[in-house]
Amino acid sequence: MSITLFANTNFHGDSLVIKSDHDTLRGTNLGNNPSSIKMTEDDDAILLCRKSNWNGEVFYLRGKHEISDLGDSAKGGKQGFGSSITSARVSPFTIKVNITIVTGEDGTLPGTWSSRTDATQDIDSIIRKANDFYKDEKALLAVELSDLTFRADEKRFRMSEKEWDSIPGSWKNAHAVDIVFPDTLEEAVGLGNFPWHGKFCLVSARRNNVDEMARTFVHELGHFWGLTHESGGEQAANIMTQSSTGKPLVDSRFRDGQIEDIQQVLARNLARQGDRIE
Ligand SMILES: [Zn+2]
Repeated sequence: MSITLFANTNFHGDSLVIKSDHDTLRGTNLGNNPSSIKMTEDDDAILLCRKSNWNGEVFYLRGKHEISDLGDSAKGGKQGFGSSITSARVSPFTIKVNITIVTGEDGTLPGTWSSRTDATQDIDSIIRKANDFYKDEKALLAVELSDLTFRADEKRFRMSEKEWDSIPGSWKNAHAVDIVFPDTLEEAVGLGNFPWHGKFCLVSARRNNVDEMARTFVHELGHFWGLTHESGGEQAANIMTQSSTGKPLVDSRFRDGQIEDIQQVLARNLARQGDRIE
């Protein structure tokens, strides 16, 4: 047994071991209203959703749990949530990313990249490091590169603050999250635009190493999906701590609530299958 849903509270009634995604539970012996859950492995993670196809309100759980009433927060559930659960997801949602690397008009590459091959390899490495992070955190998220384009734009090579508001329409891919790597962004190392205007991410390529860019990449995607900054102290290891006080990506963490917030944003949109948030 790893993840088992029960039709009734207190682990009674019909049960179903969740081994794969269920876009609807209606066809199972649970019907559409499971009311309790047991999760027995540290690696377990599940997204329970009010509506079919992982839409509507979401309840995210990871690690070992025995929740005798999914609708009762005093018992580890989520208030009001137990009245209708229609779908359950245990595999990651893949989000496509459309990456632009900004060069100078003469083709000068940003950061310390010495060739386009070098830059392309680092982007692959950033995507891989981001996916390792999501996997380690059991976030049920993955990113996939849809496009990588080098674009000459002297004005955006070293971006001043007034360039932060928008990127050219031709740089956008309606079915992916648009992420731009300029050389520098004035004093900032990155920018994530949701829920502000524009809806794209910027990551400075002028960093000490690919690990720093990967951390900023994941951090800005967090903003894109609506997360705000965490302060220092106990939250120092959180990925949403600013990099000046935060830890490297491999030592960074998500809180359960942050993953639930991201999944909630995605559940209200079509972004999970690679369609961007509108
Ligand atoms: Zn930030």
